[in-house]
Amino acid sequence: METYDALLASVSAEPGTGRTILDPATGEPVGEAPVHGLEYLEAAVSAAQEAQPAWAALGHSARSAALLKAADAVERSAEELAQLLSREQGKPLNGPNARFEVGACVAWLRATANLPLEPETIVDDGQTRAELHYKPIGVVAAIGPWNWPMMIAIWQIAPALRMGNAVVVKPSGNTPLSVLALATVLNEELPEGILSVVSCGREVGARLTDHPAIGKIMFTGSTAAGRAIIKSSADTVKRLTLELGGNDAGIVLPDADPKAIAEDVFWGAFLNTGQTCAALKRLYVHDDIYDAVCEELTAVAAAMPMGNGLDEDNVLGPLQNKAQYDVVAGLVEAAKASGARVLLGGNPEPDQPGYFYPTTLVADIDNDNPLVAEEQFGPALPIIRYSTIDEAVEKANALEVGLGASVWSSDVSAARGVASRIQAGTVWINRHGAVDPRIPFGGAKQSGYGLEFGVEGLKALGVPQVING
Ligand code: NAD
Repeated sequence: METYDALLASVSAEPGTGRTILDPATGEPVGEAPVHGLEYLEAAVSAAQEAQPAWAALGHSARSAALLKAADAVERSAEELAQLLSREQGKPLNGPNARFEVGACVAWLRATANLPLEPETIVDDGQTRAELHYKPIGVVAAIGPWNWPMMIAIWQIAPALRMGNAVVVKPSGNTPLSVLALATVLNEELPEGILSVVSCGREVGARLTDHPAIGKIMFTGSTAAGRAIIKSSADTVKRLTLELGGNDAGIVLPDADPKAIAEDVFWGAFLNTGQTCAALKRLYVHDDIYDAVCEELTAVAAAMPMGNGLDEDNVLGPLQNKAQYDVVAGLVEAAKASGARVLLGGNPEPDQPGYFYPTTLVADIDNDNPLVAEEQFGPALPIIRYSTIDEAVEKANALEVGLGASVWSSDVSAARGVASRIQAGTVWINRHGAVDPRIPFGGAKQSGYGLEFGVEGLKALGVPQVING
Protein backbone atom coordinates (compact mmCIF):
# COMPACT_ATOMS: atom_id res chain seq x y z
CA MET A 1 0.00 0.00 0.00
CA GLU A 2 1.36 3.43 -0.93
CA THR A 3 1.82 5.85 1.93
CA TYR A 4 -0.35 8.49 0.27
CA ASP A 5 -3.44 6.25 0.03
CA ALA A 6 -5.31 7.79 2.97
CA LEU A 7 -4.63 11.33 1.77
CA LEU A 8 -5.69 10.46 -1.77
CA ALA A 9 -8.88 8.80 -0.50
CA SER A 10 -9.74 11.96 1.45
CA VAL A 11 -9.75 14.09 -1.71
CA SER A 12 -11.10 11.60 -4.25
CA ALA A 13 -14.51 11.74 -5.89
CA GLU A 14 -17.27 9.34 -4.94
CA PRO A 15 -16.79 6.26 -7.14
CA GLY A 16 -18.30 6.76 -10.56
CA THR A 17 -18.67 10.54 -10.24
CA GLY A 18 -15.13 11.71 -10.93
CA ARG A 19 -12.56 11.96 -13.67
CA THR A 20 -9.74 9.42 -13.81
CA ILE A 21 -6.29 10.94 -13.52
CA LEU A 22 -3.59 8.90 -15.26
CA ASP A 23 0.04 8.58 -14.24
CA PRO A 24 2.06 10.26 -17.04
CA ALA A 25 4.89 7.75 -16.54
CA THR A 26 2.82 4.60 -16.95
CA GLY A 27 -0.66 5.51 -18.15
CA GLU A 28 -2.11 3.74 -15.09
CA PRO A 29 -4.86 5.37 -13.03
CA VAL A 30 -3.71 7.44 -10.05
CA GLY A 31 -7.15 8.33 -8.68
CA GLU A 32 -10.51 9.91 -9.34
CA ALA A 33 -10.62 13.70 -9.21
CA PRO A 34 -13.90 15.35 -8.27
CA VAL A 35 -15.62 17.24 -11.07
CA HIS A 36 -17.06 20.32 -9.39
CA GLY A 37 -19.75 22.34 -11.13
CA LEU A 38 -20.90 25.94 -10.87
CA GLU A 39 -22.98 25.24 -7.79
CA TYR A 40 -19.92 23.99 -5.92
CA LEU A 41 -17.94 27.04 -7.05
CA GLU A 42 -20.69 29.40 -5.85
CA ALA A 43 -20.77 27.64 -2.47
CA ALA A 44 -16.98 27.94 -2.13
CA VAL A 45 -17.11 31.67 -2.96
CA SER A 46 -19.96 32.26 -0.47
CA ALA A 47 -18.13 30.34 2.27
CA ALA A 48 -15.04 32.41 1.57
CA GLN A 49 -17.01 35.66 1.78
CA GLU A 50 -18.51 34.59 5.08
CA ALA A 51 -15.24 33.43 6.67
CA GLN A 52 -13.00 36.27 5.48
CA PRO A 53 -13.94 39.13 7.87
CA ALA A 54 -13.12 37.09 10.99
CA TRP A 55 -9.85 35.95 9.42
CA ALA A 56 -8.98 39.57 8.58
CA ALA A 57 -9.88 40.66 12.12
CA LEU A 58 -7.33 38.24 13.59
CA GLY A 59 -4.50 40.54 12.55
CA HIS A 60 -1.10 39.79 11.08
CA SER A 61 0.52 38.02 14.01
CA ALA A 62 -2.30 35.51 14.50
CA ARG A 63 -2.48 34.83 10.78
CA SER A 64 1.29 34.40 10.62
CA ALA A 65 1.05 31.90 13.49
CA ALA A 66 -1.61 29.96 11.58
CA LEU A 67 0.58 29.90 8.47
CA LEU A 68 3.51 28.59 10.52
CA LYS A 69 1.29 25.80 11.86
CA ALA A 70 0.12 25.05 8.33
CA ALA A 71 3.79 24.81 7.29
CA ASP A 72 4.36 22.27 10.07
CA ALA A 73 1.37 20.26 8.85
CA VAL A 74 2.78 20.17 5.31
CA GLU A 75 6.13 19.08 6.72
CA ARG A 76 4.47 16.25 8.65
CA SER A 77 2.76 15.01 5.47
CA ALA A 78 5.69 15.77 3.18
CA GLU A 79 6.38 12.24 1.97
CA GLU A 80 2.71 11.45 1.21
CA LEU A 81 2.36 14.73 -0.66
CA ALA A 82 5.57 14.14 -2.63
CA GLN A 83 4.51 10.63 -3.65
CA LEU A 84 1.10 11.77 -4.83
CA LEU A 85 2.67 14.70 -6.67
CA SER A 86 5.16 12.38 -8.33
CA ARG A 87 2.43 10.04 -9.54
CA GLU A 88 0.10 12.73 -10.79
CA GLN A 89 2.59 15.23 -12.22
CA GLY A 90 5.26 12.68 -13.21
CA LYS A 91 8.23 14.43 -11.60
CA PRO A 92 10.69 12.20 -9.75
CA LEU A 93 10.78 12.10 -5.98
CA ASN A 94 14.49 12.87 -6.06
CA GLY A 95 16.53 15.68 -7.57
CA PRO A 96 15.00 19.17 -7.67
CA ASN A 97 11.57 17.61 -8.09
CA ALA A 98 8.69 16.30 -5.92
CA ARG A 99 10.31 16.28 -2.47
CA PHE A 100 11.99 19.55 -3.33
CA GLU A 101 8.60 21.03 -4.35
CA VAL A 102 6.92 20.04 -1.09
CA GLY A 103 9.92 21.38 0.82
CA ALA A 104 9.55 24.66 -1.08
CA CYS A 105 5.88 24.84 0.02
CA VAL A 106 7.02 24.63 3.65
CA ALA A 107 9.76 27.21 3.10
CA TRP A 108 7.40 29.64 1.33
CA LEU A 109 4.74 29.36 4.03
CA ARG A 110 7.30 30.08 6.74
CA ALA A 111 9.00 32.91 4.89
CA THR A 112 5.67 34.53 4.00
CA ALA A 113 4.49 34.24 7.61
CA ASN A 114 7.64 36.05 8.74
CA LEU A 115 7.63 38.94 6.25
CA PRO A 116 7.54 42.34 7.95
CA LEU A 117 4.65 44.62 6.96
CA GLU A 118 4.27 47.86 8.87
CA PRO A 119 2.33 50.98 7.85
CA GLU A 120 4.70 53.35 6.03
CA THR A 121 4.93 57.02 6.92
CA ILE A 122 5.09 58.80 3.57
CA VAL A 123 5.03 62.43 4.71
CA ASP A 124 5.37 63.78 8.25
CA ASP A 125 6.38 67.46 7.99
CA GLY A 126 4.47 68.97 10.91
CA GLN A 127 1.55 69.96 8.69
CA THR A 128 0.70 66.70 6.92
CA ARG A 129 1.02 63.17 8.17
CA ALA A 130 0.30 60.59 5.49
CA GLU A 131 0.56 56.88 6.20
CA LEU A 132 0.28 54.03 3.72
CA HIS A 133 -1.52 50.92 4.99
CA TYR A 134 -2.41 47.65 3.27
CA LYS A 135 -5.87 46.19 3.87
CA PRO A 136 -7.23 42.79 2.81
CA ILE A 137 -8.92 42.69 -0.58
CA GLY A 138 -11.57 40.10 0.35
CA VAL A 139 -11.81 36.92 -1.69
CA VAL A 140 -8.90 36.04 -3.97
CA ALA A 141 -9.05 33.48 -6.79
CA ALA A 142 -5.88 31.45 -7.34
CA ILE A 143 -5.65 29.83 -10.78
CA GLY A 144 -2.62 27.68 -11.47
CA PRO A 145 -0.85 25.40 -13.96
CA TRP A 146 0.23 21.74 -13.89
CA ASN A 147 4.02 22.02 -13.86
CA TRP A 148 4.64 22.95 -10.20
CA PRO A 149 1.07 22.55 -8.97
CA MET A 150 1.71 22.59 -5.22
CA MET A 151 4.47 25.17 -5.12
CA ILE A 152 2.69 27.64 -7.37
CA ALA A 153 -0.54 27.18 -5.38
CA ILE A 154 1.40 28.07 -2.21
CA TRP A 155 2.96 31.10 -3.93
CA GLN A 156 -0.59 32.36 -4.47
CA ILE A 157 -2.24 31.14 -1.25
CA ALA A 158 0.39 32.08 1.35
CA PRO A 159 0.55 35.86 0.76
CA ALA A 160 -3.20 36.03 0.15
CA LEU A 161 -3.96 34.43 3.52
CA ARG A 162 -1.25 36.36 5.33
CA MET A 163 -2.87 39.63 4.12
CA GLY A 164 -6.24 38.57 5.54
CA ASN A 165 -7.98 37.37 2.40
CA ALA A 166 -9.90 34.15 1.82
CA VAL A 167 -8.85 32.07 -1.20
CA VAL A 168 -10.67 29.94 -3.76
CA VAL A 169 -8.20 27.84 -5.76
CA LYS A 170 -8.78 26.49 -9.25
CA PRO A 171 -6.04 23.99 -10.05
CA SER A 172 -5.14 22.77 -13.51
CA GLY A 173 -7.35 19.92 -14.69
CA ASN A 174 -4.14 17.93 -15.20
CA THR A 175 -3.08 18.04 -11.55
CA PRO A 176 -6.11 18.58 -9.30
CA LEU A 177 -5.34 15.78 -6.83
CA SER A 178 -2.02 17.32 -5.77
CA VAL A 179 -3.64 20.67 -5.01
CA LEU A 180 -6.66 19.13 -3.29
CA ALA A 181 -4.32 17.08 -1.08
CA LEU A 182 -2.18 20.11 -0.26
CA ALA A 183 -5.25 22.16 0.69
CA THR A 184 -6.57 19.32 2.85
CA VAL A 185 -3.31 19.36 4.81
CA LEU A 186 -3.30 23.17 5.09
CA ASN A 187 -6.90 23.14 6.26
CA GLU A 188 -5.90 21.06 9.28
CA GLU A 189 -4.67 24.41 10.65
CA LEU A 190 -6.95 27.00 9.02
CA PRO A 191 -10.46 28.16 9.93
CA GLU A 192 -13.26 26.70 7.85
CA GLY A 193 -14.15 28.43 4.59
CA ILE A 194 -11.08 30.56 4.07
CA LEU A 195 -9.31 28.11 1.74
CA SER A 196 -11.12 25.90 -0.73
CA VAL A 197 -10.36 24.18 -4.00
CA VAL A 198 -12.74 23.93 -6.93
CA SER A 199 -11.67 20.98 -9.07
CA CYS A 200 -13.27 21.94 -12.35
CA GLY A 201 -12.70 22.46 -16.03
CA ARG A 202 -11.82 25.78 -17.65
CA GLU A 203 -15.43 26.73 -18.38
CA VAL A 204 -16.54 26.51 -14.75
CA GLY A 205 -13.23 27.98 -13.54
CA ALA A 206 -13.69 30.95 -15.84
CA ARG A 207 -16.60 32.04 -13.61
CA LEU A 208 -14.03 33.07 -10.99
CA THR A 209 -12.66 35.60 -13.45
CA ASP A 210 -15.90 37.58 -13.77
CA HIS A 211 -17.49 36.79 -10.41
CA PRO A 212 -18.43 40.01 -8.60
CA ALA A 213 -17.35 38.62 -5.21
CA ILE A 214 -13.77 37.99 -6.35
CA GLY A 215 -11.54 41.01 -5.73
CA LYS A 216 -8.26 39.72 -7.13
CA ILE A 217 -6.98 36.97 -9.38
CA MET A 218 -3.59 35.41 -8.89
CA PHE A 219 -3.02 33.71 -12.24
CA THR A 220 -0.09 31.58 -13.33
CA GLY A 221 -0.28 29.95 -16.73
CA SER A 222 0.00 30.67 -20.42
CA THR A 223 0.00 34.12 -21.98
CA ALA A 224 -3.08 33.17 -24.02
CA ALA A 225 -5.11 32.34 -20.89
CA GLY A 226 -3.76 35.49 -19.22
CA ARG A 227 -5.18 37.59 -22.05
CA ALA A 228 -8.58 35.90 -21.69
CA ILE A 229 -8.57 36.61 -17.95
CA ILE A 230 -7.70 40.28 -18.46
CA LYS A 231 -10.74 40.56 -20.70
CA SER A 232 -13.19 38.66 -18.52
CA SER A 233 -12.15 40.45 -15.34
CA ALA A 234 -12.47 43.91 -16.90
CA ASP A 235 -16.14 44.54 -16.08
CA THR A 236 -15.54 44.07 -12.37
CA VAL A 237 -12.12 45.79 -12.46
CA LYS A 238 -10.36 43.01 -10.59
CA ARG A 239 -6.82 43.32 -9.39
CA LEU A 240 -4.56 40.93 -11.29
CA THR A 241 -1.18 39.35 -10.80
CA LEU A 242 -0.28 37.58 -14.03
CA GLU A 243 2.67 35.18 -14.16
CA LEU A 244 2.57 34.09 -17.78
CA GLY A 245 4.66 32.15 -20.24
CA GLY A 246 8.33 32.71 -20.83
CA ASN A 247 11.07 31.70 -23.22
CA ASP A 248 14.14 32.55 -21.17
CA ALA A 249 17.47 33.27 -22.83
CA GLY A 250 20.83 32.40 -21.31
CA ILE A 251 23.92 34.15 -22.66
CA VAL A 252 27.30 32.50 -22.18
CA LEU A 253 30.06 35.12 -22.45
CA PRO A 254 33.38 34.16 -24.08
CA ASP A 255 35.25 34.10 -20.77
CA ALA A 256 32.98 31.51 -19.13
CA ASP A 257 34.48 28.15 -18.14
CA PRO A 258 32.45 25.53 -20.04
CA LYS A 259 33.18 22.69 -17.64
CA ALA A 260 32.47 24.79 -14.54
CA ILE A 261 29.08 26.03 -15.77
CA ALA A 262 27.78 22.90 -17.52
CA GLU A 263 25.86 21.34 -14.64
CA ASP A 264 24.22 24.60 -13.55
CA VAL A 265 23.28 25.40 -17.16
CA PHE A 266 21.80 21.91 -17.42
CA TRP A 267 19.58 22.32 -14.35
CA GLY A 268 18.66 25.85 -15.37
CA ALA A 269 17.21 24.35 -18.54
CA PHE A 270 16.03 20.90 -17.48
CA LEU A 271 14.59 21.60 -14.03
CA ASN A 272 11.34 19.62 -13.81
CA THR A 273 12.28 18.09 -17.17
CA GLY A 274 12.08 21.54 -18.76
CA GLN A 275 8.49 22.14 -17.64
CA THR A 276 9.33 25.28 -15.71
CA CYS A 277 8.17 28.80 -16.53
CA ALA A 278 11.51 30.42 -15.74
CA ALA A 279 13.71 27.67 -17.19
CA LEU A 280 16.50 28.44 -19.61
CA LYS A 281 14.91 27.74 -22.99
CA ARG A 282 17.41 29.33 -25.44
CA LEU A 283 21.14 29.14 -24.84
CA TYR A 284 23.34 31.69 -26.66
CA VAL A 285 27.02 30.74 -26.69
CA HIS A 286 29.96 32.76 -28.03
CA ASP A 287 31.79 31.32 -31.04
CA ASP A 288 35.06 30.98 -29.10
CA ILE A 289 33.67 28.43 -26.67
CA TYR A 290 30.67 27.11 -28.61
CA ASP A 291 32.05 23.63 -29.23
CA ALA A 292 33.41 23.26 -25.70
CA VAL A 293 30.07 24.27 -24.13
CA CYS A 294 28.20 21.85 -26.42
CA GLU A 295 30.56 19.06 -25.44
CA GLU A 296 30.43 19.66 -21.67
CA LEU A 297 26.67 20.12 -21.65
CA THR A 298 26.17 16.94 -23.65
CA ALA A 299 28.30 14.99 -21.17
CA VAL A 300 26.29 16.28 -18.20
CA ALA A 301 22.92 15.79 -19.90
CA ALA A 302 23.69 12.25 -21.08
CA ALA A 303 24.44 11.18 -17.50
CA MET A 304 21.11 12.31 -15.98
CA PRO A 305 18.73 9.37 -15.48
CA MET A 306 15.16 9.76 -16.74
CA GLY A 307 12.33 7.40 -15.82
CA ASN A 308 9.46 6.66 -13.47
CA GLY A 309 9.41 9.25 -10.69
CA LEU A 310 8.93 6.73 -7.91
CA ASP A 311 12.27 5.11 -8.79
CA GLU A 312 14.71 6.83 -6.43
CA ASP A 313 17.48 6.86 -9.07
CA ASN A 314 15.71 9.15 -11.54
CA VAL A 315 16.07 12.91 -11.66
CA LEU A 316 14.13 13.53 -14.90
CA GLY A 317 10.60 12.35 -15.62
CA PRO A 318 8.01 12.28 -18.39
CA LEU A 319 6.15 15.24 -19.86
CA GLN A 320 3.02 15.69 -17.79
CA ASN A 321 0.54 15.27 -20.63
CA LYS A 322 0.18 14.22 -24.23
CA ALA A 323 -0.46 17.74 -25.53
CA GLN A 324 2.88 18.95 -24.12
CA TYR A 325 4.65 15.84 -25.42
CA ASP A 326 3.33 16.61 -28.90
CA VAL A 327 4.52 20.24 -28.67
CA VAL A 328 8.06 19.19 -27.77
CA ALA A 329 8.21 16.37 -30.32
CA GLY A 330 6.85 18.65 -33.08
CA LEU A 331 9.34 21.43 -32.36
CA VAL A 332 12.31 19.06 -32.34
CA GLU A 333 11.17 17.38 -35.58
CA ALA A 334 10.86 20.80 -37.24
CA ALA A 335 14.33 21.75 -36.01
CA LYS A 336 15.78 18.52 -37.42
CA ALA A 337 14.03 19.09 -40.74
CA SER A 338 15.56 22.58 -40.91
CA GLY A 339 19.06 21.11 -40.75
CA ALA A 340 19.88 21.83 -37.10
CA ARG A 341 22.35 19.40 -35.50
CA VAL A 342 21.08 17.09 -32.74
CA LEU A 343 23.78 16.60 -30.11
CA LEU A 344 21.71 14.37 -27.85
CA GLY A 345 18.23 12.82 -27.85
CA GLY A 346 15.62 13.85 -30.40
CA ASN A 347 14.73 10.20 -30.88
CA PRO A 348 11.71 9.27 -28.74
CA GLU A 349 10.77 5.60 -28.58
CA PRO A 350 7.40 5.33 -30.32
CA ASP A 351 5.78 2.48 -28.39
CA GLN A 352 6.87 2.94 -24.80
CA PRO A 353 4.27 3.73 -22.14
CA GLY A 354 4.25 7.23 -20.66
CA TYR A 355 5.10 10.61 -22.12
CA PHE A 356 8.87 10.30 -21.94
CA TYR A 357 10.74 12.54 -24.34
CA PRO A 358 14.52 12.04 -24.22
CA THR A 359 16.80 14.81 -23.01
CA THR A 360 17.56 16.71 -26.21
CA LEU A 361 20.22 19.25 -27.16
CA VAL A 362 20.10 20.91 -30.58
CA ALA A 363 23.05 22.90 -31.98
CA ASP A 364 23.64 25.08 -35.05
CA ILE A 365 20.10 26.40 -35.07
CA ASP A 366 18.80 29.79 -36.22
CA ASN A 367 17.21 32.29 -33.88
CA ASP A 368 13.92 32.25 -35.78
CA ASN A 369 13.60 28.45 -35.71
CA PRO A 370 10.37 27.53 -33.84
CA LEU A 371 12.35 25.48 -31.29
CA VAL A 372 14.02 28.78 -30.33
CA ALA A 373 11.19 31.25 -30.87
CA GLU A 374 8.40 29.25 -29.19
CA GLU A 375 8.18 28.11 -25.58
CA GLN A 376 8.99 24.39 -25.81
CA PHE A 377 8.27 23.74 -22.09
CA GLY A 378 10.02 20.38 -22.14
CA PRO A 379 13.41 18.65 -22.23
CA ALA A 380 14.76 20.15 -25.48
CA LEU A 381 17.31 22.96 -25.45
CA PRO A 382 18.45 24.85 -28.59
CA ILE A 383 22.03 26.19 -28.48
CA ILE A 384 22.55 29.23 -30.70
CA ARG A 385 25.92 30.61 -31.78
CA TYR A 386 26.78 34.32 -31.55
CA SER A 387 29.87 36.37 -32.22
CA THR A 388 29.28 39.78 -30.57
CA ILE A 389 27.60 40.70 -27.29
CA ASP A 390 25.33 43.15 -29.12
CA GLU A 391 24.15 40.31 -31.34
CA ALA A 392 23.47 38.06 -28.32
CA VAL A 393 21.51 40.78 -26.50
CA GLU A 394 19.51 41.60 -29.62
CA LYS A 395 18.59 37.94 -30.10
CA ALA A 396 17.74 37.47 -26.43
CA ASN A 397 15.42 40.51 -26.58
CA ALA A 398 13.78 39.58 -29.89
CA LEU A 399 10.69 37.90 -28.41
CA GLU A 400 7.49 39.32 -26.93
CA VAL A 401 8.06 37.52 -23.61
CA GLY A 402 10.55 38.34 -20.86
CA LEU A 403 10.19 36.29 -17.70
CA GLY A 404 13.76 35.35 -16.75
CA ALA A 405 17.20 35.31 -18.35
CA SER A 406 20.78 34.55 -17.35
CA VAL A 407 24.33 35.60 -18.10
CA TRP A 408 27.25 33.21 -17.59
CA SER A 409 30.76 34.56 -17.14
CA SER A 410 33.89 34.38 -14.98
CA ASP A 411 33.64 38.17 -14.62
CA VAL A 412 30.56 38.98 -12.53
CA SER A 413 30.70 42.72 -13.13
CA ALA A 414 30.86 42.22 -16.91
CA ALA A 415 27.92 39.84 -16.57
CA ARG A 416 25.95 42.44 -14.61
CA GLY A 417 26.54 44.94 -17.41
CA VAL A 418 25.07 42.54 -19.96
CA ALA A 419 22.25 41.61 -17.55
CA SER A 420 21.06 45.21 -17.37
CA ARG A 421 20.52 45.21 -21.16
CA ILE A 422 18.19 42.21 -21.16
CA GLN A 423 14.42 42.68 -21.16
CA ALA A 424 13.32 40.25 -18.47
CA GLY A 425 11.81 40.40 -14.98
CA THR A 426 14.80 38.60 -13.44
CA VAL A 427 18.30 38.16 -14.82
CA TRP A 428 20.40 35.61 -12.96
CA ILE A 429 24.18 35.51 -13.10
CA ASN A 430 25.85 32.10 -13.33
CA ARG A 431 22.58 30.37 -12.49
CA HIS A 432 19.06 30.28 -13.86
CA GLY A 433 15.61 29.92 -12.32
CA ALA A 434 16.62 30.22 -8.66
CA VAL A 435 13.62 31.73 -6.87
CA ASP A 436 13.61 32.85 -3.27
CA PRO A 437 10.65 33.78 -1.04
CA ARG A 438 12.44 37.00 -0.01
CA ILE A 439 13.10 38.25 -3.55
CA PRO A 440 10.38 39.70 -5.82
CA PHE A 441 9.66 37.76 -9.00
CA GLY A 442 7.57 38.73 -12.01
CA GLY A 443 7.59 39.06 -15.76
CA ALA A 444 8.42 41.79 -18.26
CA LYS A 445 6.67 42.25 -21.63
CA GLN A 446 3.98 39.62 -22.27
CA SER A 447 5.25 37.38 -19.47
CA GLY A 448 2.82 39.23 -17.25
CA TYR A 449 2.67 41.93 -14.60
CA GLY A 450 2.67 42.25 -10.86
CA LEU A 451 5.21 40.81 -8.45
CA GLU A 452 5.18 37.73 -6.26
CA PHE A 453 7.36 36.99 -3.20
CA GLY A 454 8.92 39.21 -0.59
CA VAL A 455 7.25 42.26 0.90
CA GLU A 456 6.44 43.52 -2.61
CA GLY A 457 4.55 40.30 -3.30
CA LEU A 458 2.69 40.53 -0.01
CA LYS A 459 1.60 44.11 -0.73
CA ALA A 460 0.16 42.89 -4.04
CA LEU A 461 -2.43 40.92 -2.06
CA GLY A 462 -3.63 44.05 -0.26
CA VAL A 463 -5.46 47.23 -1.12
CA PRO A 464 -3.29 50.24 -0.39
CA GLN A 465 -4.99 52.81 1.80
CA VAL A 466 -3.59 56.24 2.61
CA ILE A 467 -4.56 57.79 5.93
CA ASN A 468 -3.91 61.50 5.49
CA GLY A 469 -4.39 63.97 8.29
P1 NAD B 1 -2.84 27.31 -19.07
O1 NAD B 1 -2.82 28.77 -19.29
O2 NAD B 1 -3.35 26.44 -20.13
O3 NAD B 1 -3.68 26.96 -17.76
C1 NAD B 1 -3.35 27.52 -16.49
C2 NAD B 1 -4.61 27.49 -15.62
O4 NAD B 1 -5.56 28.42 -16.11
C3 NAD B 1 -5.32 26.14 -15.60
O5 NAD B 1 -5.82 25.93 -14.29
C4 NAD B 1 -6.43 26.35 -16.60
O6 NAD B 1 -7.51 25.50 -16.40
C5 NAD B 1 -6.80 27.79 -16.32
N1 NAD B 1 -7.43 28.55 -17.39
C6 NAD B 1 -7.12 28.55 -18.70
N2 NAD B 1 -7.89 29.44 -19.36
C7 NAD B 1 -8.69 30.01 -18.43
C8 NAD B 1 -9.70 31.02 -18.48
N3 NAD B 1 -10.04 31.62 -19.61
N4 NAD B 1 -10.31 31.36 -17.33
C9 NAD B 1 -9.97 30.79 -16.15
N5 NAD B 1 -9.03 29.82 -16.05
C10 NAD B 1 -8.40 29.46 -17.17
O7 NAD B 1 -1.32 26.93 -18.68
P2 NAD B 1 -0.72 25.48 -18.40
O8 NAD B 1 -0.61 24.76 -19.71
O9 NAD B 1 -1.45 24.83 -17.28
O10 NAD B 1 0.74 25.89 -17.87
C11 NAD B 1 1.83 26.10 -18.71
C12 NAD B 1 2.04 27.57 -18.95
O11 NAD B 1 2.14 28.25 -17.71
C13 NAD B 1 3.35 27.88 -19.66
O12 NAD B 1 3.14 28.87 -20.62
C14 NAD B 1 4.26 28.42 -18.56
O13 NAD B 1 5.29 29.26 -18.99
C15 NAD B 1 3.28 29.11 -17.70
N6 NAD B 1 3.79 29.26 -16.34
C16 NAD B 1 4.19 30.52 -15.92
C17 NAD B 1 4.73 30.69 -14.65
C18 NAD B 1 5.19 32.03 -14.16
O14 NAD B 1 5.48 32.18 -12.97
N7 NAD B 1 5.28 33.04 -15.01
C19 NAD B 1 4.85 29.57 -13.81
C20 NAD B 1 4.44 28.32 -14.28
C21 NAD B 1 3.90 28.19 -15.54
